Amino acid sequence: MAILPIYTYGDEVLNKVAKPLKKVDEKIQTLIDDMFETMEQANGIGLAAPQVGVSIRLLVVDVSCVKEYKHVPPMVIINPQILETRDEVLMEEGCLSIPGVREEVWRPDVIKLKYRDRHFQEHVEEFDGLLSRVIQHELDHLNGELFVEKLDSKTRRSLKETLEAIKHGEVEAKYVLAEKSHVA
Ligand SMILES: [Zn+2]
Repeated sequence: MAILPIYTYGDEVLNKVAKPLKKVDEKIQTLIDDMFETMEQANGIGLAAPQVGVSIRLLVVDVSCVKEYKHVPPMVIINPQILETRDEVLMEEGCLSIPGVREEVWRPDVIKLKYRDRHFQEHVEEFDGLLSRVIQHELDHLNGELFVEKLDSKTRRSLKETLEAIKHGEVEAKYVLAEKSHVA
């Protein structure tokens, strides 16, 4: 397994709509293992493939480090599709691609999700609470969207400098970041 560098705010791969997977071959299995290792090393609870520079509809989630979710096994989610949502809630979010920024975001509490697992088996399942939150945040990455884009204009203005700095590679994290290819 390998630790993969994480792409940060301003990198083009994070703004792209990722491609669906047609199957899970050996290369994808390795990528999944590497994504879990990368996420764990960065103390993350969710990671989407575009965050490691691969523009495909795949994400991994592991919330077992959170007390109430201790028994929830790690999840691989491929080609996810939200079928239903209900009950908006406010919850604080952070993102491994935007180090140091944490803000409260409104999202549905409950989602009904259709997805495939790492064996490409299809599931339809309902999620709520933290698990639902992480899945929705990661699913946004597959659509080229970041949580800071969901904030009100005042909060966004207050983050402008921080985000500009990250865009120009002026950022540090306790995990490996991908090098900026277009530093102005
Ligand atoms: Zn994120």
